[in-house]
Amino acid sequence: MSKRTIDEYNFKNKKVLMRCDFNVPLDAELNISDDRRIVSSLPSIKKVIADGGALVLCSHLGRPKGERKPEMSLKPVAESLGKWLNMPVNLAPDCVGTAVDDLKQSLKAGEVLLLENLRYHKEETENDKNFAAELVSGVDVFVNDAFGTAHRAHASTEGVTHFIDDCLAGYLIEKELKFLGEAINSPNRPLLAILGGAKISGKIDVIRSLFGKVDQLIIGGGMTYTFFKAQGMEIGTSLLEEDRIEMAKELLAEVKEKSIDLILPVDVIIADKFDNEAQIKQVSKDEIPAGWMALDIGPKTIEIFSQKVMAAKTVIWNGPMGVFEMPNFAKGTRAIAEVLAQATEAGTTTVVGGGDSAAAISQFGLDDQISHISTGGGASLEFLEGKPLPGIEALTDKS
Ligand code: AMP
Repeated sequence: MSKRTIDEYNFKNKKVLMRCDFNVPLDAELNISDDRRIVSSLPSIKKVIADGGALVLCSHLGRPKGERKPEMSLKPVAESLGKWLNMPVNLAPDCVGTAVDDLKQSLKAGEVLLLENLRYHKEETENDKNFAAELVSGVDVFVNDAFGTAHRAHASTEGVTHFIDDCLAGYLIEKELKFLGEAINSPNRPLLAILGGAKISGKIDVIRSLFGKVDQLIIGGGMTYTFFKAQGMEIGTSLLEEDRIEMAKELLAEVKEKSIDLILPVDVIIADKFDNEAQIKQVSKDEIPAGWMALDIGPKTIEIFSQKVMAAKTVIWNGPMGVFEMPNFAKGTRAIAEVLAQATEAGTTTVVGGGDSAAAISQFGLDDQISHISTGGGASLEFLEGKPLPGIEALTDKS
């Protein structure tokens, strides 16, 4: 870790602005349906409170696109934080402005104030300088612990660092970089990556970057079928990115040329419509009839993928193997989640990128049986691609 971290800092009598990722899912009644992102932020928050700092927290929630949308208020987060910390967490009426400045100024050591949704102001995502300066007004030190938005140069992640000397990485960012960094840069080998999800388009760069680093690469999920099409196979009405067929051909040529160990499904579960109650068949990869769509990997594929997982020493997983939101097409994703848990118990390091694969792990109740589940889907993908994360690059160097 080349950046200064909160561990080496004493926050006594300091006013601290901490950027967290409280972008939690809310149900129809605005209750938090998954509070992992809040729980993951607690170590940094508790450190500042224990040191005797006055803590101002900020985050975005959803995509209000510069408008005050009450259903995207951080109110449920303030309540949840209050319960976790066993102390009142006051929610400011906004994230900037004179009323907020007054609240910040009167905040005492050991107290916590949560600013209202940063994205109620379009200046946040525009990385507006004046808005960034307002966010850090009256603040002595900035902590970024929002790994989930570290790949975005926004006012609260990158902008603020131009107005304050001490910009530190929080414990969550440190932990994410440790696990993701070690997995990709100095893994126990063999290193296996499993990629799934709907589209190749969002994952081309990560596929290319992984080619040079992993010992084996498994591809499953919806993106498989564009590869099958590129190999000249019939894929029925399975998910296809027509404009990516050429790219898939190029990737397959690269695989051949560099002798990359790429493993694709050998059998699939097909359905006659995109519905959990559809007619279902299990067929070999080259037997998908016209009018049918592949929505999950088949049992032979599960067996092959599972053997590869058990033979690896480090596994990185990003993206479901099928339409896991429908129980009849969740078997492949569940099997990968379960074999990852089994491999973890046997001593393999398992790292799950955020987003849908993290949701799947949670849905199957396996959260505690994986070495590391990233809190940032997009950020973890960009990290694996080898791209610098602006929210981390902007922090103060150790020297
Ligand atoms: P992504 O955001 O690209 O990681 O894609 C996640 C989505 O991919 C999930 O909502 C899955 O339902 C979907 N998905 C996975 N496999 C398939 C498939 N075979 N056909 C259609 N959608 C799929």
